[in-house]
Amino acid sequence: MIDIQKIRSEFPILKQKVNGKPLVYFDNAATSQKPQIVIDSIVNYYTTFNANIHRGVHTLSQKATNAFEEARVKLQKHFNAKKNYEIILTAGTTHSINIVATGFTALLKKGDEIIVSALEHHSNIVPWQMLCERTGAVLKVIPMNEEGELQLDKYAELLSKKTKLVFVNHVSNALGTINPIKKIIDMAQAVGAAVLIDGAQSSAHIKTDVQALGVDFYVASAHKMCGPTGVGILYGKEKWLNKLPPYQGGGEMIKQVTFEKTTYADLPYKFEAGTPNIAGVIAFGTAIDYMNALGFDNIVTYEDELLQYATKKLLQIEGLKIYGTSKNKTAVISFNIEGIHPYDIGVIIDKLGIAVRTGHHCAQPIMDFYKIPGTVRASFAFYNTFEEIDLLIEALIKAKTMLL
Ligand SMILES: *Cc1c(COP(=O)(O)O)cnc(C)c1O
Repeated sequence: MIDIQKIRSEFPILKQKVNGKPLVYFDNAATSQKPQIVIDSIVNYYTTFNANIHRGVHTLSQKATNAFEEARVKLQKHFNAKKNYEIILTAGTTHSINIVATGFTALLKKGDEIIVSALEHHSNIVPWQMLCERTGAVLKVIPMNEEGELQLDKYAELLSKKTKLVFVNHVSNALGTINPIKKIIDMAQAVGAAVLIDGAQSSAHIKTDVQALGVDFYVASAHKMCGPTGVGILYGKEKWLNKLPPYQGGGEMIKQVTFEKTTYADLPYKFEAGTPNIAGVIAFGTAIDYMNALGFDNIVTYEDELLQYATKKLLQIEGLKIYGTSKNKTAVISFNIEGIHPYDIGVIIDKLGIAVRTGHHCAQPIMDFYKIPGTVRASFAFYNTFEEIDLLIEALIKAKTMLL
């Protein structure tokens, strides 16, 4: 069960007023808010044991190293990776995808095929287009339907022996659609292709077991799951991480350096050049503990109630259309009101203290599919309330009378 009052008291930002009104934060798909315990974890590191990791013999360095490596183990357990060194600590989802996309330059040749979906965030499109430019590989796209779901029959037709890699998000940030990733993974692996799943949007709502999925790569960002910005993970199966060359050269990622030849460190350090975001990684571990203590089942049940309630209320507004109507959705609602530009709605309801996202949500191909410039997106988290949804509805009705 979600004890909403207790939870809200743990998020200091939710006590804020914005433009003189209580903050209603419905931009969780862009980034989540942070509980005090995560903020404290960052402050505690800098206040009591700030030191560089893996290098020092002194007490603070060892303490920082232990806390950093404990966070890696928390992440390993959370995502159920087989080995702790299969969890690479990165700067976030975008960084993680670029590590894999750049690494595959060495593994692809002209005419190889790689497959993306129509539902992707730009960060799971552009690095692969760059990979195609470097290698001559060809990018294929799994199409979507009007409900905002992927067409698996079309996907089956795209797969062949030429397919080397498939990369799809677990949940669409623009529409909230939960993709059938187990099926997508199995179908790809049946033709010998590797699969990367972008878990940036799903990881705050769904507890993912990478071994049960059998996925080759899984990526996520801390900041969407109550952790700090600038931190994320790249999970990779050991055999794949060993196959990929390092992404960046520098300190930490080497075994031995001479001017004639440098040998690389073992996993995970091969991919962790330079001083990482130590405070951020430790706080990511704290955020994972916090979310697991709440329980992902509780989170999902409550957020789904918010989704159903908001969907019903929104559809009572005349001229309002929801984009993304799959039955399998997280608590994201993308919509437009006929005759009004989404940006204008965003500006007016911000004056009323309500934070939503407007625009293409880094997913322009989805907007092109619906032939719209963008949407208003309200995305909910477990600390949101039914009363806040009522405030959104009131604000939208007000905006509509002002703008039409
Ligand atoms: C947010 C998001 C990203 C990008 O994450 P960053 O933390 O900005 O690197 C990629 N894919 C999806 C589905 C997202 O929601």
